[in-house]
Amino acid sequence: MIQYFHVSKQYYKDQFALSDINLSIEKGEFVFLTGASGAGKSTLLKLAFKEELPSKGQILIDSVNIGLIPERKLYRLRRQIGVVFQDFKLLMDRTVYDNVAIPLLVRGEKKSVIEKKITSTLSLVGLSHRRKYPTSHISGGEQQRVAIARAIIGSPKIVIADEPTGNLDTELSIEIVKIFERINANGITVIIATHDQNLINLFPKRLIKLDRGQ
Ligand code: ADP
Repeated sequence: MIQYFHVSKQYYKDQFALSDINLSIEKGEFVFLTGASGAGKSTLLKLAFKEELPSKGQILIDSVNIGLIPERKLYRLRRQIGVVFQDFKLLMDRTVYDNVAIPLLVRGEKKSVIEKKITSTLSLVGLSHRRKYPTSHISGGEQQRVAIARAIIGSPKIVIADEPTGNLDTELSIEIVKIFERINANGITVIIATHDQNLINLFPKRLIKLDRGQ
């Protein structure tokens, strides 16, 4: 469970990116976070994996106050949360396989374990046929799937995606949300920030709406 208690974020004095947010997301939920550009969606997500720190308030993940986690133990929090970034952050000169393997290589997993997990994860995101392709040689929609595969390969409890369909057409966007539904069906909490009202209408989920940080 993720809980925000009286969370505010100011990047600048007198300017609230988020103001007094109180929010609870249960384990296994699928949530759309919506609101206009600048409403605070990215900030709200970044606070959950401590990419940003709140100016006020507390964030608890499974009852642990993440503000109290020391820097050297932060990797444990980050392992619990798979993040799909808006700009993918992929290594374009490496293969699909290499990109997806990264979180497991960092952990020192055995090659046999990595092989097995990559096979099942690429199958889940529908990319088995692109395994050996250089990432620069696949489409934008496929690159998005690589980013999703990399986010889930380490078996996180939570997957966070910031505008994962931002640059995709409607048909591809629907496919991407369906992948997140499959991930969610495995018990993983999914939080997707999107300003795409069309997509929200197509998938009736819990909706958290931010309006100028509120
Ligand atoms: P959204 O994701 O809904 O577009 P953001 O969380 O990115 O909203 O931004 C919320 C507000 O915080 C905006 O006014 C934005 O300009 C500001 N902001 C976001 N990130 C930073 C930053 N790193 N430094 C200063 N201001 C920021």
